[in-house]
Amino acid sequence: MDVAAVESDLVKVLFTEAQIQERIAEIAAEIDRDYDGKDLVIVGVLRGAVMVMADMARSLTRHVEMDWMAVSSYGSGTKSSGVVRILKDLDSDLTGRHVLIVDEIIDTGLTLSWLTRNLSSRGAASVEVCTLLRKPDAQRMPLTVKYVGWDIPNEFVVGYGLDYRERYRNLRDIATLAPHVYS
Ligand code: 5GP
Ligand code: MG
Repeated sequence: MDVAAVESDLVKVLFTEAQIQERIAEIAAEIDRDYDGKDLVIVGVLRGAVMVMADMARSLTRHVEMDWMAVSSYGSGTKSSGVVRILKDLDSDLTGRHVLIVDEIIDTGLTLSWLTRNLSSRGAASVEVCTLLRKPDAQRMPLTVKYVGWDIPNEFVVGYGLDYRERYRNLRDIATLAPHVYS
């Protein structure tokens, strides 16, 4: 879906499809270098990471296994509590393997800091995190993020996998949502 189809719902395009592809190609080149000769499995967190996983995997110039997890964060209302439940676990065994968790956005970092600890306890050789977007609150968590596309302000964004009530995930660009959509 193009921005033109939902123009009145959006305030501003933050990153266009072309800018996203360019940044992902840069990060993929780093991953190619950093994991040269190593057995790599990339783990996508459903459902938001579907687009970034698909584009990241295709930008790599090496073999990579793609696996998926679905988790739900418990919290009061919209606040994430850091208590995470696994809804769909990985299919692969991580023993001795290099794991890169690929996500579309880190807000508080609670989900990924839990997930990093969980996957590390499975005997992986290494567990690192790659995210396309990162919000300021994430800096306060003890979470090391190896690859970041962009740091963004504390605004609610949609598109490229990011939804508002399951809509806008299939928007090509990443944009901020107009207040009238929430109310
Ligand atoms: P946290 O880092 O707080 O544990 O949770 C990150 C998750 O919150 C993301 O995977 C995403 O589902 C959701 N999230 C955080 N910020 C935004 C945003 O600006 N837009 C959308 N659509 N989802 C967000
Ligand atoms: Mg996510």
